[in-house]
Amino acid sequence: MSVNMKVIEETIENNKMLQSTKIVANKTLSLHTNGISVCKIPSTEAEVREIWRNADAVCFDVDSTVCEDEGIDELAEFLGKSDEVIEITHQAMSGNLDFHQALMKRLEIIHPSLQEIQSFIRARPPRLTPGIRELIAILQKRGTQVYLVSGGFMSVIKHVGAALNIPTDNIFCNRLKFYYDGRFSGFEENALTAHSGGKREIIRMLKEKHQYKRIVMVGDGATDMETCPPADAFVGFGGNAIREAVKKGSKLFVTSFQELIDELKINYPSYSRHLSESASSSSDDGNGSSSD
Ligand SMILES: [Mg+2]
Repeated sequence: MSVNMKVIEETIENNKMLQSTKIVANKTLSLHTNGISVCKIPSTEAEVREIWRNADAVCFDVDSTVCEDEGIDELAEFLGKSDEVIEITHQAMSGNLDFHQALMKRLEIIHPSLQEIQSFIRARPPRLTPGIRELIAILQKRGTQVYLVSGGFMSVIKHVGAALNIPTDNIFCNRLKFYYDGRFSGFEENALTAHSGGKREIIRMLKEKHQYKRIVMVGDGATDMETCPPADAFVGFGGNAIREAVKKGSKLFVTSFQELIDELKINYPSYSRHLSESASSSSDDGNGSSSD
């Protein structure tokens, strides 16, 4: 590699996230060593609903959960490399392919430049799943910490976070790397989210670091379901895509975020009504707008 071909991170912001992830990785290792984290898995739907209503932190998957589509598939389609990439995505989501291998294979095919990523963001801003904006507003208003935990890329997901008022410190995902001239050079391979089981390790770390008593994972995929434990509960989401293994394995499986909003109103009826009215008056859920 020449002097001019040094690898740079996507943004300064991402460098900060990289530091954070390395700290996470070290801490996770020590937690494994000490065997600290213990979690009872809820055995009934009623138990999951009770934990959901009283969660002090909620982690959301992004692709096909917070957003209506799979970001990497959208990027591939935008760059005319769709068919091969979608097949690999399906294998990964079904648990038939190691996540790290799947990520590497897909990026080798897509090979996006920084300029192509920027064009993609401008042409196809994230499409938020209906109801997610209101749900997250309710959670945040009552003091529940909200995180995005995704195998997608920061250059895309930071726009999702901005649209949902989720700070980048609460976003855990992968980072693409580029040469100074913008050519694709790879991805941060040591990030926890670049490996199978990475989401589970991030939740383990969050629980330990913040001493959360009830942390819930919401997602559509096998990698989301496997976070419980250490997550105290898992909610399967089938509003955009239904994975049969996840539907079958989830104690609580919903196809609309309204179901989760309604559940929260059991504890906070008047509060949630006020928030619903506020959110609906300014919501553009489903229109997918977010600024670059
Ligand atoms: Mg997903």
